[in-house]
Amino acid sequence: MQSVFIKNFTLPEMESWVESIGERRFRARQLFRHIYARRVRSWEECSDLSKMFRVQLEFGARINALKLLETREAADGTRKYLFELHDGHCIESVLIPDPPRQTLCLSSQAGCALGCNFCVTGALGFKRNLNVAEIVDQICQVQRDQPRLTNLVFMGMGEPLANYEAVSRAIQIMLDPNGMAFSHRRITISTAGLVPQLRRLGEDSPVNLAISLHAADDALRGQLMPINRTYPLTELMAACREYPLPPRKRITFEYILLDGVNDDPAHARKLIKLLYGVRAKVNLIPFNPHPDIPYRKPSEERILKFQEILQGAQLNALIRQSRGSDISAACGQLAARYCQP
Ligand code: SF4
Repeated sequence: MQSVFIKNFTLPEMESWVESIGERRFRARQLFRHIYARRVRSWEECSDLSKMFRVQLEFGARINALKLLETREAADGTRKYLFELHDGHCIESVLIPDPPRQTLCLSSQAGCALGCNFCVTGALGFKRNLNVAEIVDQICQVQRDQPRLTNLVFMGMGEPLANYEAVSRAIQIMLDPNGMAFSHRRITISTAGLVPQLRRLGEDSPVNLAISLHAADDALRGQLMPINRTYPLTELMAACREYPLPPRKRITFEYILLDGVNDDPAHARKLIKLLYGVRAKVNLIPFNPHPDIPYRKPSEERILKFQEILQGAQLNALIRQSRGSDISAACGQLAARYCQP
């Protein structure tokens, strides 16, 4: 039997797989419970499975897809996990405690191809897509530290919609009541704006949507985010307007405030115009300075003024202070730089 990463399987796939090795279908649910509810580390711990089946699993199915290399904790309690993939690439995940919330920021790719110029991950370039097991194992491994994760956000390394198949299958496992049993209200996908996949996501999945916007006109957004040259704002905003949002949900627009670049009152007014008629909320994220990135954080006064203008137009706009910047765990700072092969 060829060895597989067991966390690559959704439940229907696991049912087919157990049948293919001569076991009954219901064993798949048992395996799901052991892996995702009990979080076993070895097949020996699954004492309700026959000895023979456990031996088969021992030789044919790997539980962990990631090797934890390092955990670092910031002064504000944010924790960054550095994982090694089986081929030597590395990724990072970030746990953000904000009681009662415990949010895990997940990576979907090693590196990123989109090259947003305010982002350290973008500067790394693209290494490869993560598979399903590598995505869900970030959750399983962090749950050993923090069993009460409440929220999952795809805002770590990579563009999740550029790895659509693996991300959407991982979400099936996250939502499966026999698997991780998260509510769709607790899962957010953040995208830089891959319009075709964004439209597909709306049809496939009820999870929350966040758009990394960062500028409200094509000229500036194209400078900051090369993806805007492929999918300009008219196309992106049309997809947002047509997105099948469930009642009471809104699309979150992330806006990193860069001093003297996109933080003038005129930029705020353009943003109001752009979001007119969209069920939107805006997260304003003051930039986290990083030695490799040539931008600065705006003054407190400019940040508050920007927020005030948005709120004056009845836009729901919150200032999100990035967490964990002293350990490079804040937005756009993930580099997994210790082990890039
Ligand atoms: S901001 Fe997101 S999409 Fe842009 S380069 Fe960084 S990881 Fe990629």
